[in-house]
Amino acid sequence: MHPTLPTQGWKLENSYATLPAYFYTALNPTPVRAPQLVIINTALAQSLGLDFSTTDETSLAQLFSGNILPENASPLAQGYAGHQFGNFTLLGDGRAHLIGEHITPDGKRYDIQLKGSGRTPYSRRGDGRAALAPMLREYLISEAMHALGIPTTRSLAVVTTGETVMRQTELQGAILTRVASSHLRVGTFEYAAAKQDYAGLKSLADYAISRHYPHAATHKNPYRALLESVIQQQATLIAAWMCVGFVHGVMNTDNMTISGETIDYGPCAFLDTFSMGAVFSSIDHQGRYAFGNQPTIAHWNLSRLAETLLPLLHEHKTTAIEIAEEAIAGFGETFQQAWLAGMSKKLGILNGQPDDVALVQDLLEWMQTAKADYTTTFRDLTSTQVPEKTLYQDAAFLDWHTRWQARLNNNDTPIESALSLMQAHNPVIIPRNHHVEHALDAAEDGNMQPFQALLHAVQHPYSVTADNAPYRDAPQHPNPNYQTFCGT
Ligand code: AMP
Ligand code: MG
Repeated sequence: MHPTLPTQGWKLENSYATLPAYFYTALNPTPVRAPQLVIINTALAQSLGLDFSTTDETSLAQLFSGNILPENASPLAQGYAGHQFGNFTLLGDGRAHLIGEHITPDGKRYDIQLKGSGRTPYSRRGDGRAALAPMLREYLISEAMHALGIPTTRSLAVVTTGETVMRQTELQGAILTRVASSHLRVGTFEYAAAKQDYAGLKSLADYAISRHYPHAATHKNPYRALLESVIQQQATLIAAWMCVGFVHGVMNTDNMTISGETIDYGPCAFLDTFSMGAVFSSIDHQGRYAFGNQPTIAHWNLSRLAETLLPLLHEHKTTAIEIAEEAIAGFGETFQQAWLAGMSKKLGILNGQPDDVALVQDLLEWMQTAKADYTTTFRDLTSTQVPEKTLYQDAAFLDWHTRWQARLNNNDTPIESALSLMQAHNPVIIPRNHHVEHALDAAEDGNMQPFQALLHAVQHPYSVTADNAPYRDAPQHPNPNYQTFCGT
């Protein structure tokens, strides 16, 4: 056994493997030739009760590549299904291995997953591998989302493999270590439903309840409570995305968690120029996953989840459908409330009033027409004056600004409290596409300095500091055709 590993603090279990055998395949990652550590998230490690300070880099590279496994690891690949761009498909971890569930010193359970760690029975025609830039992209954006206060999977480490992967060109292979509350997806339930095995579906639902929504177990209909809880979490999550201008890009049902964490940072991007129709993903030709479509798609995905749960919701199908429909109907209101609450904070408005929705929507419409930068506009508004830039010397904007000022006067609190509310809810720093691309290009050339600097900036999104000045800028020439790729 490797001498350093037991001192790192791993406490691995594998509760997922108590599900029926068809939910997973036990197998080890495929060893890689010459792994090298690219980045490790020391703060996250600490919060998990893990200590890598006495492990040398070579051993860390061996560990985070899956070449050696921590004590009690028993890796597996999960089976799942999913609606991809609306079409049902059987999937599974085609390039990922769940190493185990780590129990933190305060008793929390987190999946530790390697992504890019080799082929599995679910790989279909894929090579089971991942390239460096997409894995660093996931690392950066997931850490940015976490710093923005948005539920998300986290990133513990990235290693290169010393092997190449063939995409459009030859690229450096890499493996990401992902930390998640779980990897249960809407697609996991679709997989269970496709097996037409009532007992298996029930064990999955019971497992999801015990892992994420234990209160549901005491409800008179625990499966209805499970469905309502997922709907609540997802509605709140999507509202948070909309408030910060995040476009996930590939909201297939296999990329939607039961926990309510954002997962799978493939072709995602943050808005610069505001547009409800913004699409960045190179494969989203119809704009199915456009910025403004995200609530509708979440609702659609959750309807697929509700369908899978029908046999558990009630023994009579018509009653089960009624229960499911009632639960799904709750999405719209929960989303709207969470969105309005978030947008109200961004505008410093307190004690909700009936006209607030129109006030927010009119600003968004103006931004869309004026092609304003989403993040910068809210920061520019965080002032007692009309912002100076030429962009704002526009009749429609000035009219809106007057209405907004009048609304702030109805807050019944001094203007300073509105401004501090705005400062706390309008990031100065988001991972802007032009900076992300620059950092990833440099990383591919072996220079991690730009990535580290950008990472540091996005980890403190709400503060104006001397060293984050270079990252606050909107692109000088926003690229309306900016494209992101799934990173496969
Ligand atoms: P994603 O779009 O990343 O959520 O991936 C969709 C499905 O394709 C998942 O089942 C992945 O495991 C699988 N997949 C993606 N890339 C690869 C790859 N290079 N090799 C094998 N499977 C892959
Ligand atoms: Mg996925």
